[in-house]
Amino acid sequence: LKPVHAYLTEASKLYPDKVAVHFMGKEFTYKEMHESSLKMAKYLQDIGIEKDDRVAIMLPNTPASVIAYYGILYAGAIVVQTNPLYTEREIEYQMKDSGAKAIITLDILFPRVSKVFNDTDLEHMIITGIKDFLPFPKKLIYPFIQKKQHGITVKVEHRGHNHLLTEILKIATPDPVEQVLDLEEDLALLQYTGGTTGSPKGVMLTHKNLVANASMCDAWLYKNKKGEGVTLGILPFFHVYGMTTVMITSVMQGDKMVLLPKFDVETALKTIHKQRPTMFPGAPTIYIGILNHPDLHKYDLTSVESCLSGSAPLPIEVQEKFEKLTGGKLVEGYGLTETSPVTHGNFVWDQKRIKGSVGVPWPDTDCKIVSMDTAEAAPQGEIGEIVVKGPQVMKGYWNQPEETAAVLKDGWFHTGDLGYMDEQGFFYVVDRKKDTIIAGGFNIYPREIEEVMYEHPAVQEVVTVGVPDAYRGETVKVFIVLKQGHTASEEELDQFARQHLASYKVPRLYEFRDELPKTAVGKILRRKLVEEEKEKQT
Ligand code: ATP
Repeated sequence: LKPVHAYLTEASKLYPDKVAVHFMGKEFTYKEMHESSLKMAKYLQDIGIEKDDRVAIMLPNTPASVIAYYGILYAGAIVVQTNPLYTEREIEYQMKDSGAKAIITLDILFPRVSKVFNDTDLEHMIITGIKDFLPFPKKLIYPFIQKKQHGITVKVEHRGHNHLLTEILKIATPDPVEQVLDLEEDLALLQYTGGTTGSPKGVMLTHKNLVANASMCDAWLYKNKKGEGVTLGILPFFHVYGMTTVMITSVMQGDKMVLLPKFDVETALKTIHKQRPTMFPGAPTIYIGILNHPDLHKYDLTSVESCLSGSAPLPIEVQEKFEKLTGGKLVEGYGLTETSPVTHGNFVWDQKRIKGSVGVPWPDTDCKIVSMDTAEAAPQGEIGEIVVKGPQVMKGYWNQPEETAAVLKDGWFHTGDLGYMDEQGFFYVVDRKKDTIIAGGFNIYPREIEEVMYEHPAVQEVVTVGVPDAYRGETVKVFIVLKQGHTASEEELDQFARQHLASYKVPRLYEFRDELPKTAVGKILRRKLVEEEKEKQT
């Protein structure tokens, strides 16, 4: 067992001159990334960051986000990932709750962070700009950054420093004091949940959790030989999914990590065409976006060997089309922030795969389905709560012992998701317990309806919600985004749904939208639409 950052040390020895990070045309070798991360660690220690202190990163995917991440870990501290889109209120909550002592962020986010700085335990703000790492004329691309850069001499009184990350890399020496870590107990990451169920919770992930999960990805997903692959980093590192499957796993593999600061279909296509990634973890909406791009035919995507789709159900049609397009494998997996995140996956290479299933529990991972009626293990085939155990299961929620006790029992983590297992041991996610729609006494699972609607040729994206109904308790409403250049009336969709769904499941309400609200990893934000519907009722 090794700490997360030991894999960067190892890669810097095995492949010192191989490219570790590619960002907008500029490349950094493993030797450079390793040295920069050590300098970052030394700087953090010099300003008083000690073992177990929390240090926040609020950055899009950039070389700085990788250096910051590994730098914090080399210093023996704990990374707190913060979504750059967070509002002041959300930043303040997360900084206060985690007790972060320092934050590493982007110059353009400075105004937002500085507003809450004095009300938190933050003592230091370390600032970087995308321009710090850009190889070409800055003014051309980010004309506004140059101006803002000067504004960064903002007063943080005598409480802190304002250093540009590049300055740190110039002045610091790469010799932090090595910390002795207990890999089973010491945290590498405090990863906040989205807060669908109350206030966001800090998920405590240890070095062991993350290394175990990244090792599973490494063993399960990769075909290429070590030191030869290219991983596409579209998934944001401030979410656990991209953090494990890209930030850690690609270093473990000695891959080149190609970073995209945000998901934009056109940029993604151009990058795949040019950088020829072999590995491409993503979410269904990312693959859907790519498949529906009008100029798709102009790009060569055949370098892609394996993709893991997680965070939401992967429509079968999308999987088939994407595999045909790339010649690579797109397999569905499943997991949660609390499990570092992956617990299940379909086989990628020669073994049997079942489309529509999230696959089997990954190595060292156990899974059982717990009956909703008896709270005991359910018979095979019955729908119940998915409960998992394995080295990737979190230590608990930060400062929330009651919340922890409610979901972690004897090492088994209760996911809050409903699913079942087939006779071959493959698992299926039916839906979240809390998303189940109860209409006229029947349980309706949004996922089943969405699967059907996705089969309609005009439908690009769909999400199903239950809306209050005086007669049936709840009724099914679908929000639909149509593919560009396609039309479909409500009547046509209704007819289509009636052909494929039992009548009690047929959507009663339709709403067409140009786009749907999404989370940072591209998951459709059903919760937002449910809230909108509730507001309409009041
Ligand atoms: P919150 O943090 O508020 O819970 P979130 O849903 O974004 O928000 P994550 O930990 O990012 O939290 O996502 C985990 C959830 O994603 C799972 O509980 C499950 O409902 C869903 N999920 C993940 N993979 C799949 C999949 N393959 N099919 C269906 N659902 C999935």
